[in-house]
Amino acid sequence: MHHDHAVQIAEAERRCSDAGESLTPLRKRVLELLLDRHGPAKAYDLLPLLDAEKAAKPPTIYRALDFLVRMGLAHRIESLNAFVACEVGACARSTIFLICEKCGGAEEFDAGHALVDLSEAAKKDGFAIRRTMIEASGVCAQCQAA
Ligand SMILES: [Zn+2]
Ligand SMILES: [Zn+2]
Repeated sequence: MHHDHAVQIAEAERRCSDAGESLTPLRKRVLELLLDRHGPAKAYDLLPLLDAEKAAKPPTIYRALDFLVRMGLAHRIESLNAFVACEVGACARSTIFLICEKCGGAEEFDAGHALVDLSEAAKKDGFAIRRTMIEASGVCAQCQAA
């Protein structure tokens, strides 16, 4: 994990154009805000930060967030009703989040083969998994040390 957003934005633009989509200025701005955040953000937390831009209405920001999720550039954490920028970058919409009950932090967890194993097991049952989103709640290392 690093914090050079220029690299992440360039990668996001590449991925969008590969998919025949475009990272519009608003979508890019929302992604930058998520990257700046380093943690889960609710749509209405982002709204005031977009105030300067005329298009910043709730449906607009939800559409931008949906787009980022669809492109695998961000994830929606259902249990927090919040969004985070993808830290892994290539998780193809399947990922695991470790959510701290004390500080509300959400860490994208590189589970190695756990999701591949799950997908293989489902395949044996005749099911083709397209997306897996696991949210594990508990206490993060920092909060345990505090
Ligand atoms: Zn991810
Ligand atoms: Zn914590």
